[in-house]
Amino acid sequence: RAVNADDIIIYVGVEHRAADAALRAALGERPTDVRGRVRIVQAPVGYVAGEESAAVNFINAGDARPTTTPPRPFERGVRGRPTLLQNVESLALAALIARRGAAWYQNLGQGQAHGIGLVTASGAVNHAGVQELELGSPLADVAAAAGGLRGDVQAVLLGGYFGTWADVDEQWRLPLDPQSMQARGLAFGCGVVHFLNARTCGVEATARIMAYLASQSARQCGPCLFGLGAIAEATRRLAAKSPQTDDLERLHRWSGELPGRGACRHPDGAAGLLRSALTVFAEDYAAHQRRRCLTIAEPVRVAVA
Ligand code: SF4
Repeated sequence: RAVNADDIIIYVGVEHRAADAALRAALGERPTDVRGRVRIVQAPVGYVAGEESAAVNFINAGDARPTTTPPRPFERGVRGRPTLLQNVESLALAALIARRGAAWYQNLGQGQAHGIGLVTASGAVNHAGVQELELGSPLADVAAAAGGLRGDVQAVLLGGYFGTWADVDEQWRLPLDPQSMQARGLAFGCGVVHFLNARTCGVEATARIMAYLASQSARQCGPCLFGLGAIAEATRRLAAKSPQTDDLERLHRWSGELPGRGACRHPDGAAGLLRSALTVFAEDYAAHQRRRCLTIAEPVRVAVA
């Protein structure tokens, strides 16, 4: 109503069957005139299928690959019309603010931050899952709300696969809110906080993520297709302790060259994660380049963001 929209499209991943069923049930409870303006579109499985231009492209043409921008969807989107894209968390909060007032929201939050946000805790915690936290809550609160850490933890992945690795001791009091994190070169991103067990090799964990991100390229921009592929191969060789002589040096160079070279920001996110890994796990990478591992190997399990 605020943007005077004629059509409302709910774009939900085809694999999220419970969410799809809940949405259809909720829609069935709305008045007929509202139901008539809303449709649910099932998004195909794929990391970049949720990128905003990919979502518009899929709705318009059945192709869930990002398109060159500009124009951005707010300029020309679904059926060529200006289109507002929002994630459901933002819309849910907007609805609560409309009902309870701006002051209610402003009074939530810790320190300089205002509001609440959803955080997904995973990895070396006792109870992985989604939590609602006041923005500005320290990282330690996420671990506590997840039932505490399980064993020693060496690093934390902040913001999911488009985020950054960080030293867990350095960031233990880190306020989790976009502004505070940005000031430290970190990102709140999708709110995923993954604690990496001290017995799990960070080089291996990063190689798994890079392989996944390379596999999710929409394969239409050369630097993304070939650049991410080459990075995935080099990180895999390093993780396997069978690197080529200049793999580590090339990873440093590629992580700076890749950003800004694709139609969407998929390669930028992957390069940012890689840069953080090369910093946080610098000693591990140096050891792997010498065909050694500093960590007592344990199977790598990193949640898909
Ligand atoms: S940068 Fe990669 S994911 Fe993005 S549009 Fe190009 S090929 Fe697809």
